[in-house]
Amino acid sequence: MSSLESQSTRWANRFTDALPGDPSSENRPRQVEGAVWSPVSPEPVSRPLMLATSPELADELGLPAEWSSSDQWLSWLSGNAVPEGQQPYAMNYGGHQFGNWAGQLGDGRAINLGEFQDASGHWQTMQLKGAGPTPYSRTADGRAVLRSSIREFLCSEAMYHLGIPTTRALSLVGTGDQVVRDMFYDGRPAPEPGAIVCRVAPSFLRFGNYQIHAARQERDLLAQLVHWTIDQHFPELDADAPDAPLHLLETVIQRTAHLVADWMRVGFVHGVMNTDNMSILGLTIDYGPYGWLDDFNPDFTPNTTDAHSRRYVYANQPRVAHWNLAQLGRALLPLIEDIEPVQSVIDTYPERFGVAYRSAMASKLGLSELPNEELLGDLFAWMQAFETDWTLFFRCLMEIDPEDPDVSRLENAFYTPPFVSDLEGISKWVTDWAEACLEDDGYDEDRLGRMSSANPWFIPRNYQVFQAIEAAEKGDLFLVEDLLDASRAPYEAQEDREHLAARRPEWAREQAGASMLSCSS
Ligand code: AMP
Ligand code: MG
Repeated sequence: MSSLESQSTRWANRFTDALPGDPSSENRPRQVEGAVWSPVSPEPVSRPLMLATSPELADELGLPAEWSSSDQWLSWLSGNAVPEGQQPYAMNYGGHQFGNWAGQLGDGRAINLGEFQDASGHWQTMQLKGAGPTPYSRTADGRAVLRSSIREFLCSEAMYHLGIPTTRALSLVGTGDQVVRDMFYDGRPAPEPGAIVCRVAPSFLRFGNYQIHAARQERDLLAQLVHWTIDQHFPELDADAPDAPLHLLETVIQRTAHLVADWMRVGFVHGVMNTDNMSILGLTIDYGPYGWLDDFNPDFTPNTTDAHSRRYVYANQPRVAHWNLAQLGRALLPLIEDIEPVQSVIDTYPERFGVAYRSAMASKLGLSELPNEELLGDLFAWMQAFETDWTLFFRCLMEIDPEDPDVSRLENAFYTPPFVSDLEGISKWVTDWAEACLEDDGYDEDRLGRMSSANPWFIPRNYQVFQAIEAAEKGDLFLVEDLLDASRAPYEAQEDREHLAARRPEWAREQAGASMLSCSS
């Protein structure tokens, strides 16, 4: 690891050096036209305190051993100082929110410090979420509460350990300041502790970054941004080729299809798949009112704001991604001009998603491929009928020997225990599954290995994170650390942590903050 002194040479302003910025540095809510970003400084906080860190990410970044206790890093990660020579900025983007074009959104509370060269020489953007207002803050304060920051911190790192593309979280810093939020939207705003997460990703560009310039007919800016994106982040493509934007679209479609298949596999519900929350790199981004399936309910959404329209429920995520990709295609159209190839490439999404999804589901069942449509259809029907836990079911299934299938092994997975008469239907499915295993070409080769790498033993369930937040708000960070630690080996049974791989307790079923979340963060 390098010394603290040598850090200065590893910072750069690649994005802001390359792309047109806002000539105004006036920090008040306004429309920013003709610019990809706006200069803005983080606003200092009262008493910054390092609450949690990701040592794995620090290692990847090649941070010095003493970084997490260094005053210099604490002042950078709290926004109390900016690394020398850095031009902090907020990005300009727009987006479709719940299906409607919302115009300019932008980084309203995320301030990018610029890029940092990691241990393997790649540039990573460092971004402080909750570091104060920007020209894109509209009527809000630019801050984040501890509650939502813990959720983002834990889930980013859990996703990474699950092997699912995501932005990362380096640190969780308490600000010592209070932030007022109306958490339940009931007209009773209350002060809550504030926090800042340092998010890290090669880029935080979203579909909305391209949409805003297309909507404003800023074709040159759009072209520059697309060229830069490909040049920096898609080395497999030729940024100067005339059809580069089309290839970019195709690549984003492929990555997004795989991303959403992964979410479906582990039962992750993003909660706010607006186009400003869709990463151009195909990363999971913007952890807000997200959640995980406990019982298998295709209609589950953790987001109370979406409780009525149910646009972002679990089962709808693949379709929403398709719709969002079509909006990206539309945004790139000025650079491609001909609508036909754009439409054809967007039309490839269902097949790409289907391939990724079927392969993920086959792995979950221990098969090399799904033998027919019914196996999944029947499974989903009874899983729903008996409130079956999505995560536990597949781990229980791993314990059934296809040569001597014993349905009682599934007992642990039910919220509503089936009657003996119902068990017949389930037994029939288990028999069908066992037969499929015996007939599968890849059977025996590595069935259990395939299943255990597709079926997490641990996911940071909503109620567990809720408990960690309650303790952290009282000053006890043990549960945050414990969940972070459990998430480090999510596919392995951790014997000392059996309580973390149990069904959601009954109290959490309708608990606000555990099963239902607001966007107020
Ligand atoms: P989100 O729902 O987190 O994707 O945010 C949508 C938009 O609202 C983005 O432009 C955010 O930057 C902005 N935003 C959300 N919360 C705040 C806040 N507390 N202060 C300023 N802007 C915010
Ligand atoms: Mg967002």
